[in-house]
Amino acid sequence: MPNDPNHREQAAAGLEQLAALVRAQAWRSDGLPALPPTQAAVLRMLAASNEGLRAGQIAARLDVSAASLSDTLKAMQAKGWLLRSVDADDRRASLLHLSKQGRTLAARLNHPERGMAALLQGLDAADVGALLRVTQLLVGQAQQQGMATGLRTCQGCRYFQPFASSDARQPHICGFLDQAFGDAELRADCAEQAPADEALLAANRERFRRRPPP
Ligand code: SF4
Repeated sequence: MPNDPNHREQAAAGLEQLAALVRAQAWRSDGLPALPPTQAAVLRMLAASNEGLRAGQIAARLDVSAASLSDTLKAMQAKGWLLRSVDADDRRASLLHLSKQGRTLAARLNHPERGMAALLQGLDAADVGALLRVTQLLVGQAQQQGMATGLRTCQGCRYFQPFASSDARQPHICGFLDQAFGDAELRADCAEQAPADEALLAANRERFRRRPPP
C-alpha cells in the first residue's frame, strides 16, 4: 500500500522474524551444535583473519563487553575450538586463532546452504545489491545510535567514495583497490577496511544515503 504509515513497523517486524527464524533453525541440521550467536560470530571472525585477533578487537567488533566475551571465549576454548599465540607487536598480549576443529566448524557455518546464506540463494544480483545497500545503511544507523562499533563496512571505510564514479553500473570507488564497484560488491565485512574519521564518515553517510541523480 503506498504511503502506508506502518511501513517501518512492517519492515522492523520482517527483520525480527528473519533473525528469529535463522537463530532457531540455522545450526540444528547436519549434526551442528546449536551455537549461541556470539560463538558463531567469533568463529566466523577468526576464520576470516589470517593473523588472528586479540580478544579486545573481537569485543569491539561485536560491541560486547570484555567480561561477556571472556565467558564466550572460555566456553569455546574448553571445546577445543581456539588456540592462542603471542602477539609479536606486544609480547604481553595474545592472539586468538581457530584450531583445526574450530576451522572445520566455521567452514560448516559458512556453508552457502546454511543460515542467512541459504535464504539468499534465490535472489538475483540486483536484489542482493539492494540488500547490501540497506545493510550498510542499517549498520550506519546502529553505529550512530551507539549500538555497534568496529564493524568493517564500506560505508564506514576511509577508502570508500560513494557515487564518485561516472559509470552508473559501478557508481562507487574503492580507493584501496582503486576500482569502481556497484552495490552488489559492497562489503559488509572487509579485511582491508580502515575506519573513516568522523568528518569523512558523516559526509559519506550523507552522500551514500541519497539516491544518485537520474
Ligand atoms: S577497502 Fe574494503 S571496505 Fe573499504 S571501500 Fe574498499 S572494499 Fe569497501
